[in-house]
Amino acid sequence: MEYKKNDILTIDIEDMGHDGEGIGKSEGYTLFVKDTVIGDRAEVKIMKAKKNYGYARLLRILRPSPDRTEPKCPVARACGGCQLQFLSYEKQLEFKKNKVLGNLQRIGGFSGIEADKVMGMEEPWRYRNKAQFPVGRSKEGKLITGFYAGRTHSIVASRDCLLGVEVNKEILDRILAYMEACHVEPYNEKTGKGLVRHILLRYGFKTGEIMVCLIINGNRIPAQDRLAAALMDIPGMTSITLNVNTKRNNVILGEKVIPVWGKEYITDYIGTVQYQISPLSFYQVNPIQTEKLYGTALEYAGLTGNETVWDLYCGIGTISLFLAQKAKQVYGVEIVPAAIEDAKRNAKLNKIANAEFFVGKAEEVLPEKYEKEGIQADVIVVDPPRKGCDGAVLQTMLKMQPEKIVYVSCDSATLARDLKLLCENAYQLEKVAVCDMFPQGVHVETVCLLKRR
Ligand code: SAH
Repeated sequence: MEYKKNDILTIDIEDMGHDGEGIGKSEGYTLFVKDTVIGDRAEVKIMKAKKNYGYARLLRILRPSPDRTEPKCPVARACGGCQLQFLSYEKQLEFKKNKVLGNLQRIGGFSGIEADKVMGMEEPWRYRNKAQFPVGRSKEGKLITGFYAGRTHSIVASRDCLLGVEVNKEILDRILAYMEACHVEPYNEKTGKGLVRHILLRYGFKTGEIMVCLIINGNRIPAQDRLAAALMDIPGMTSITLNVNTKRNNVILGEKVIPVWGKEYITDYIGTVQYQISPLSFYQVNPIQTEKLYGTALEYAGLTGNETVWDLYCGIGTISLFLAQKAKQVYGVEIVPAAIEDAKRNAKLNKIANAEFFVGKAEEVLPEKYEKEGIQADVIVVDPPRKGCDGAVLQTMLKMQPEKIVYVSCDSATLARDLKLLCENAYQLEKVAVCDMFPQGVHVETVCLLKRR
């Protein structure tokens, strides 16, 4: 049977894809259906038909899966932010664990691996300390803010995202009221005209400090004092700034930050380490799970106080500073100069003297330090971006032969690839921990402990 666009059919969902979409078959023809879960019987409409597979849209659930839950968020389907809200949290964790173990088995060739722990959240909502809301106008011309619909730039109006903190709604209400009153136009991507592009909000979970940053297509904003006056009595308000982005691109933030009211940064803690966070700083978005993730990295590193530790892809040095409390010396390597500046400042702020940071590519810095300066390591921690570790990093680690390698990963496919190489040589995979940093979303973080054989 040949399928084509707009065909309507009934299928049973039997599997789940990497983006959390349901997968079902109709007479051998595979269909990917967003918003369905394993066990659903659904009526679907084909949106795009390829030769052997297609993409379909859910029309209605004919028989719900026992694992299906009613999404809490009213815009769960339209919004591109969450992919797994239709699945019970328990099953979300199972999906993530299976994804990691499946990749380790298929790509890494590891058999019989169990997870040492699966770290979920007790309350898998309102965990994000950062939110970025695009501002625009609805079809009817109303000023709106919310989130982009999946794979598009049309804004789904929503001021109360259930992944963000409750105070966000009040802040957005006040900023939009200010914009109405002072005739401040939202930016229009199509014309490049208008002023306010995004609203960036951050909240320090341990300190209660709030940051508001308006990203604008210009160098100033009308009635700036009225904006400040509208926001400053919100409990916890600490920093109000503007960020200038006049480029016609998809990047949210520009480089220049202009203070409006209060400090230019907020303060927060991971464990007992204090961080100053500016609008441009990278900072993990789920502070509760970050502590569990880095706590596990620290546990796996098993430090006694005598070790030399390298933290590759160190970002603002979060893991480095966490480790420095228990190690003799920590060295961090990161490609983004501004992140290293943050790392150095945060080390000073916390009076941590045994952490040193280098700007550069891990695949250049590590081999150079090893070959020219003969540096060594007892433990190497890596936390690379999704593409995983560069070959030169892996080869240098194999030459350096640290007793332990702790691999923190946001992509279990590249993790499995890299572990395979390390374990074909001198290492053995000892432990795998799965950490859910993004409940309701599909991404998952993993920490692995490798020991030298
Ligand atoms: N552990 C860090 C976050 C790591 S995210 C923290 O908690 O803050 C991965 C980091 O790797 C990013 O900061 C990215 O800028 C950096 N990076 C990407 N490619 C790199 C490379 N080739 N060498 C070094 N760092 C790199």
